[in-house]
Amino acid sequence: MLSSKIGADSRRLLNVWRGKNQDVFLRAQHTEIARLIPVLYIVVAISCVALSLSYARSAPLWLSVGVPGLMMVPIGLRMRYWLGVGGISDRMPIEKIRRDIKQTNYIGPVIALIFTIVGALLLSHGTSNEHHHEIAGIAIWILAITSAFCLSATPFASILILLSAATPLTISLLMDASHVIQTMGGIVILISAQVSYMLIQNYLSFFKMVHSKAELEKSKVIAVLAEQASTTLANTDHLTGLSNRRRFEKAVLEWATQQDMAQTGFAVGIIDLDGFKPVNDVYGHSAGDEVLIEVASRLFAEFGNAGQVARLESDQFAFIASSASQDVVLEIAGKIQLALCQPYKVYPDRIVRIASSIGIALQTDTVTEPLDLIAHADAALHQSKANGKAMITVFTSDMELENLERAKIEQGLRMAISNDELQTYFQPIFEISTQRLAGFEALARWTDPELGVVSPAIFIPIAEQSGLIGPLTELMLRKAAGAASAWPDELYLSFNVSAEQLVRESAGLRIMTVLAECGLAPQRLEIEVTETALMKDLPAARRTLENLKAAGVRISLDDFGTGYSSLSQIRNLPLDKVKIDKSFIDDIVCDEKTRNLVATIVTMCNGMNITCTAEGIEEQAQLNQLKLNGCHSGQGYLFARPMPYVDVEKLIQRTYSGRKKMRRAS
Ligand code: C2E
Ligand code: CA
Ligand code: CA
Repeated sequence: MLSSKIGADSRRLLNVWRGKNQDVFLRAQHTEIARLIPVLYIVVAISCVALSLSYARSAPLWLSVGVPGLMMVPIGLRMRYWLGVGGISDRMPIEKIRRDIKQTNYIGPVIALIFTIVGALLLSHGTSNEHHHEIAGIAIWILAITSAFCLSATPFASILILLSAATPLTISLLMDASHVIQTMGGIVILISAQVSYMLIQNYLSFFKMVHSKAELEKSKVIAVLAEQASTTLANTDHLTGLSNRRRFEKAVLEWATQQDMAQTGFAVGIIDLDGFKPVNDVYGHSAGDEVLIEVASRLFAEFGNAGQVARLESDQFAFIASSASQDVVLEIAGKIQLALCQPYKVYPDRIVRIASSIGIALQTDTVTEPLDLIAHADAALHQSKANGKAMITVFTSDMELENLERAKIEQGLRMAISNDELQTYFQPIFEISTQRLAGFEALARWTDPELGVVSPAIFIPIAEQSGLIGPLTELMLRKAAGAASAWPDELYLSFNVSAEQLVRESAGLRIMTVLAECGLAPQRLEIEVTETALMKDLPAARRTLENLKAAGVRISLDDFGTGYSSLSQIRNLPLDKVKIDKSFIDDIVCDEKTRNLVATIVTMCNGMNITCTAEGIEEQAQLNQLKLNGCHSGQGYLFARPMPYVDVEKLIQRTYSGRKKMRRAS
């Protein structure tokens, strides 16, 4: 869309330039004629006077004085005209210039011809000198040469002038009886030919000069075009043709200054599409592109001004609303949500639906930096997303602090990942009935030099939102799998995989690659996924899980009971384990309902051949209850806190030397 627009612009400008190129040449011709033609007319006028004086007595008056006198009238008029237009060729209408050049092409030779005829007629009334008419003829011919040079910018006129004087002269010289005069005729032919050649050369160098000037103009036009194209490209989103982030930021700054003057406010909104990723994953990227283009056109229809809407990144759009009234802007945002949730038709004949979350920042007195509005709208959008799908949130000052903190964490995390500063801790998981060590859950740990210890509960969601979860997961899995490969074979590694990762097509392959590189058998890996991760894009998540399961990896449903998944959905997933969330374990002793619920979950899992692990066991009473319920395994501070690798080694050593002793004793 954009490239064709640039193409059309370029063609239009180049066409203008091509026309201009021709115009440039005509104007240069006109300037040249205007510069020299008055000189030519003066020479012709003097010649007329000289002719009149020479033949006033010998020739009839009508011929010697009348005709040259009459000729002075058009000569005077033309001279006045050319003196008038001298120096203004650049500003004259091109049509007038064309007309002037055309007239010169005819008037020049006509005057020269009249001059020659009059000269010839006058010569027949010559005096006693036998060769005076040849001399006069040569004078007229020289006059014609001068004229031809004066009009060298118009070769047609100048060569005609030369010919109209040279032809009768040559004929009369060649017909003379004297050989000397005949030879002169030959010389006139040679000189006329030479002069014609010079005139053509003159014209060509004039043409080249004008042309090179025009080429210079052309390169200037091309430079302007290139600049225009690069500015358009730099400010436009290639796919949708809307403004990009850069142009949008400029627009916000412009609105801020305009609104300052007008004393009215405005608002910035950021829209994030909900459910866009599955469209991309299921129907392919071209379908995703179709949806994005349609979103752009619906937004455009809503605002009617391309400058007010932008695509900031993948499925994030932004708008400027021309009001700072919360009610008005909420109404606009509501309309946008309604427009965007209408069905989308994608190739080939599929209908998809998406929703949108919106964050809004109103321009208020407290906002001094206009671009902060974009950051504020972004913070409000995060809130919208955190609150569930299809929400609209207006920014409040509380979010500002949160936003700042978030930005710091994201920045720090980025550094920590690239400097390999994240650590892996391991929390042991025990079989409840036997108290045997069964495996370890790997948990990320991060201590930032400035922020101090940051909990994974905080940095993992930020990593997910900022696209850092991919490299983080890979780094963590590499470390954890590397460590686990040195453990006894019966100990498994439990590893958390976040939603963002799970729905990627390549997720399964990446995990398997890391396992192979670290030398950990897939049968010793258990991956933990949360219900929310699964619900985000169930078909894509199921695909990844089935692939992993087929390769021997076990699948565990983390934080069970906190999400929305129904039992029927769980039945349809390739699960090996359910991890009962800590919040149930907390209440298991004192709350009967919870106790019964946990008992039901355990029974259900046993019935479905799914293992059950209880999380966050802190007290012996909780453990006793779980043992009574028949819960398979558990983890919690009662057993051990998450520990660094060195402590894991010690724990394994203790455990296995204990077992050997036990075996020896038995
Ligand atoms: P989670 O997967 O539910 O992990 C269990 C959390 O409960 C861990 O918190 C653990 O330290 C804590 N915990 C274990 N036993 C007890 C207990 O007896 N009492 C209490 N109060 N807490 C206990 P942590 O390490 O802060 O991790 C928080 C969450 O961060 C994890 O919850 C997990 O969802 C996420 N997370 C941690 N590491 C990773 C990682 O490498 N990748 C991903 N995607 N998520 C991770
Ligand atoms: Ca977990
Ligand atoms: Ca958990």
